[in-house]
Amino acid sequence: MTNDVNLTEKLKHYFGFNSFKGEQEEIIRNLLAGNDTFVLMPTGGGKSLCYQLPSLLMEGTAIVVSPLIALMKNQVDVINGMSEETGVAHYLNSSLNKAAIDQVKKDIRSGLTKLLYVAPESLTKEEYVEFLKSVKISFYAIDEAHCISEWGHDFRPEYRRIRPIIGQIGNAPVIALTATATDKVRTDIKKSLGITQAKEFKNSFNRPNLYYEVRQKTKDVDRDIVKFIRQNSGKSGIIYCLSRKKVEELAAVLQANNIKAAAYHAGFDAATRSKTQDDFLMEKIDVIVATIAFGMGIDKPDVRFVIHYDIPKSLEGYYQETGRAGRDGGEGKCIAFYSRKDLHKLEKFMEGKPVAEQDIGRQLLQETAAYAESSVCRRKMLLHYFGEDYPKDNCGNCDNCLHPKVKIDATKETVIVLRAVKALKEDFRSDYVIDFVKGRDTDDIKDHKHDLLPEFGEGEDCDIKIWNPVIRQSIIAGFLKKDVENYGVLKITKGGLDFIKNPYTFMVVKDAEFSEDDDDEVGERQTAALDPELFAMLQDLRKDTSRKLGIPPYVIFQDVSLEQMATVYPISLEELVNIPGVGVGKAHRYGKEFIALIKRHCEENDIERPEDLRIRTVPKKSMLKVKIIQSIDRKMPLDDIADAQNIDFEDLLTEIEAIVYSGTKLNIDYFLEDVMDDDHIDDIYEYFRESETDDLEVAMDELGEDYTEDEVRLVRIKFFSELAN
Ligand code: ADP
Ligand code: MG
Repeated sequence: MTNDVNLTEKLKHYFGFNSFKGEQEEIIRNLLAGNDTFVLMPTGGGKSLCYQLPSLLMEGTAIVVSPLIALMKNQVDVINGMSEETGVAHYLNSSLNKAAIDQVKKDIRSGLTKLLYVAPESLTKEEYVEFLKSVKISFYAIDEAHCISEWGHDFRPEYRRIRPIIGQIGNAPVIALTATATDKVRTDIKKSLGITQAKEFKNSFNRPNLYYEVRQKTKDVDRDIVKFIRQNSGKSGIIYCLSRKKVEELAAVLQANNIKAAAYHAGFDAATRSKTQDDFLMEKIDVIVATIAFGMGIDKPDVRFVIHYDIPKSLEGYYQETGRAGRDGGEGKCIAFYSRKDLHKLEKFMEGKPVAEQDIGRQLLQETAAYAESSVCRRKMLLHYFGEDYPKDNCGNCDNCLHPKVKIDATKETVIVLRAVKALKEDFRSDYVIDFVKGRDTDDIKDHKHDLLPEFGEGEDCDIKIWNPVIRQSIIAGFLKKDVENYGVLKITKGGLDFIKNPYTFMVVKDAEFSEDDDDEVGERQTAALDPELFAMLQDLRKDTSRKLGIPPYVIFQDVSLEQMATVYPISLEELVNIPGVGVGKAHRYGKEFIALIKRHCEENDIERPEDLRIRTVPKKSMLKVKIIQSIDRKMPLDDIADAQNIDFEDLLTEIEAIVYSGTKLNIDYFLEDVMDDDHIDDIYEYFRESETDDLEVAMDELGEDYTEDEVRLVRIKFFSELAN
């Protein structure tokens, strides 16, 4: 393949695009010329095309190493569906059976396959290596190449073996592609793949259309998220959680609030995962709640928000995950919920890991925490982290820029910090430096005899909260550097040394205040109080209804239910069902007039209903109640049910009472007829029909000693079930 080919024509021909995005063309030409190539492009930048197009133009088969099976299938489908040549892309991974593997091999041998996607685990398999030796390889593409580095979020040890395997299969140009690119990761990738000479293509990582925000995570985080989604209803979004358990819980909460949401994590089988993914792409689902297993390579251009429910483990991961929003250049809101508690939890988890890994993990976490707590422009911080200088101070599209904090003059403090770093021979991390300037004689400092240095405690009179922001903003300003290869110790730069000599006014913004405890009052909303006026009106309505229907008032709704209604103001049947003691049955039978009354009352008095501010939580699904209902349907004797559920008979009755009181009909006649005399049943039934109250003690008194408490309760259940439900 000569390099004077008209690539734009080929692009149009195979993919239907009119022009290249960014540096795609230069990248492709470099590869066609047989050179190793290194591509750094943000998510959504169009990396795949950089190897897909050349593979179609070059002789032989291109091998694409890609970390996720789901991703492979997706990409193979895309390319097979997109280019007019059919069946030019195939994949090899552990999901294929023998017959499928043989077919793939046949296609490769016949020259049909231009692109072969392989999982790193498959690539390193002896039998595939043997087979591939006999194949003409056009080039190797290593997608998501950051997986080579431990300095990131999903290191894959097999990625480290790629170079030796290439050596065995046969040399060909290598193109490595990634969207996360600190200097450290970049060096790691090049070294490990043996492409230190590779030409590097680095696009700006700035995604101007993405909006970044960090919010304090309180115990009301679920409500905050539901509210956010309601305000953005119908839009596609992804919510990342760290644990599978949280993923499932949150998805359930969203579903309970009528949000089209689904859970996704590696614990689901492949079929379920791929269905969820398809449903999301087809917009049958609006919101995916997922672990980081979701999203790599998923190409949905109009994801409108990405929420981090938990603090991400690294900014690398965070940036890649947020990168999935707004790929089409449209709106993309990226909101992270941050709490110190989560941070401490993650740090604790790390304690079991090997020391080196712990150290990396901690540093990455510290970077994320710094990002979250800082009041500096988020975009500036992120880009700085990826080695890029964002020239403006205010990007106009992040929370810190839209609500800027007042800057304070920290010239003096900055000089103190810089002097400290120098005095400590550029060999200590930020927290040590802070202890040092504050003049804290910790054991560590005393061991090093640093408390004897003249710079020790130079900043003891300053605001103790100033040091973190000063250090971080000094790093951004280029006075200090963090040496990531070396435990993150602080080094001073030439600019920093100059600043000590000739300081000029240096303004910093103080960090946002985050509380240590996310259970504190931040989340405490007003506790609702009973509305006595409404309560009286509801009682009147109940009296009228009771007269009309000829049943006692308490059969309609009990006082506790009315009190609750007069507190939370339900105005729909759905909301009414959430009132204790009101089930679906009762709500439908009697509810209509009650909610109409409440609605009118709210409108007339301009009442802000707590329900409007509240979200529905997922009831701890009472399996017990479900089992009891099922057993009674099967006419199982109640004492057997109690045994089977391992509860006392009294407790069983209490459960059943709760069930019928909230409006579910239960027919226990089969059991009553078995254990009680007919006239006992009738007597008790009659008593309740006449009585002013359903109180058990009153009933026992009135009925006398002939009847046992269990009998009275059983008949009361029958009575309620038949009359009220
Ligand atoms: P990345 O792997 O960098 O995250 P993808 O390769 O998945 O990004 O591409 C992102 C989107 O950009 C895809 O929808 C792809 O079809 C589209 N795309 C790629 N190149 C072009 C191009 N030259 N013109 C228009 N769209 C493109
Ligand atoms: Mg990609």
